[in-house]
Amino acid sequence: MGRGLLQTHLDAFNKVGARITDERRAGYDKQYEYADAIKGAYGIFFFQHPSMLEYQERLKKKKERCNAETILKVNKIPSANHLTRLLDNVKPSDFKDVFNEGLKAAAKYGALDKYQVLGKYHLVALDGVWFYQSTTINCIHCLHHKTKDGETLYYHDMVAAVLVKGKEGTVLPLNPEFIHNEDGSQKQDCERNAAKRWLESNSDSYKWLNPILLGDDLYSDYPTCTQVLEKGLHFLFTCKGESHKWLYDSIDDECMKVKTVKTWTGRHHLEYRYRWYNGLEIRQEQPTLLVNYLLLEIWNEEKQKVTYRNSWVTDLEIDEKNVVEMAESARARWKIENEHNNVLKHHGYHLDHNFGHGKENACEIYVILNLLAFQMHGVMLLLDEGYQKARKSIRRRDEFFAGLRIIINRYLFETWEEFIGFISQEDEPDG
Ligand SMILES: [Zn+2]
Repeated sequence: MGRGLLQTHLDAFNKVGARITDERRAGYDKQYEYADAIKGAYGIFFFQHPSMLEYQERLKKKKERCNAETILKVNKIPSANHLTRLLDNVKPSDFKDVFNEGLKAAAKYGALDKYQVLGKYHLVALDGVWFYQSTTINCIHCLHHKTKDGETLYYHDMVAAVLVKGKEGTVLPLNPEFIHNEDGSQKQDCERNAAKRWLESNSDSYKWLNPILLGDDLYSDYPTCTQVLEKGLHFLFTCKGESHKWLYDSIDDECMKVKTVKTWTGRHHLEYRYRWYNGLEIRQEQPTLLVNYLLLEIWNEEKQKVTYRNSWVTDLEIDEKNVVEMAESARARWKIENEHNNVLKHHGYHLDHNFGHGKENACEIYVILNLLAFQMHGVMLLLDEGYQKARKSIRRRDEFFAGLRIIINRYLFETWEEFIGFISQEDEPDG
């Protein structure tokens, strides 16, 4: 089933490369193609190997060909400087379809079926995440603010979008929206504006997933919720009392619907207390919007206290039958922080490392390619038997990629399948 998955991204990169208008001036070194720069940089993240391309050059000297050519289909390998210069001309929006094609490839083989919730929806969590900061290196899109010492701090943030499910360890990134300043603009961009742009440019592309958007309290305001509905999507956003005074004041405790579920974890007796009410105004000003409110408290019998409490609003009607799954879905929001932001920063992807900043887009393009490599690893974990077997044979993620690096530096393979097959064989016990 796994055959051709990597090819989905590589084909999409060729299309992105072919669409770029080559504005390199006459006399400029045009020996490298954009598609080669994109696939080369993708390889750095896919193999979690910052100096991969240098090693491939060395391998090529020895064996006349190298894995960047055979596995990643790079025709001519650009140097690190060329890479950043070339990627600086590519636009983040050029990659919008690549994220969707990766997901559609996963869906084609049924890998997304288990991500379905409430019978027919998928959960897409949105969250603001920073990935770059420096007091010296900056580009036209950098956000900036003055530090206490009077220095200017340059940084980059994005609104990440990720397909999640409560009990699924694998999360799959969708196209992000960068929180960045437009060239010459004095006004700093912010997460709220970027979320608005994300909805504007991505809602149609992902409608096939029938998404329920998850987000923290920043998202559960009238403008965002109405925009989500206008775009034909659904929401299940955290809703705090401090920011929704009108809504909280209008809750009549007596009228709340209640459901209680008791469980035994093996160590603790927990009581899940669900309370909900359909049809509350999200704000006092007119026009307003009627939303459905859900509260979950978890009572721990041994500790004699409430150990979890959170509340949400949604456009979906809550009832006795769906309330448990609704709360479980809402709670899957933390996955974007733990399984996405945290893994990308601290478990081998080095999201916050400066691979090359450029003057315009390179910094963001490196992040895009990192996210796409992360997406492909996720898709392969769901579908590619060779990859699953190899990952199983070396449990620790860092050791697995260290093994990959050694092999790809030394030996030549004709295809990805041959390469990953070799890795899993390497670790099979003798006999
Ligand atoms: Zn910048």
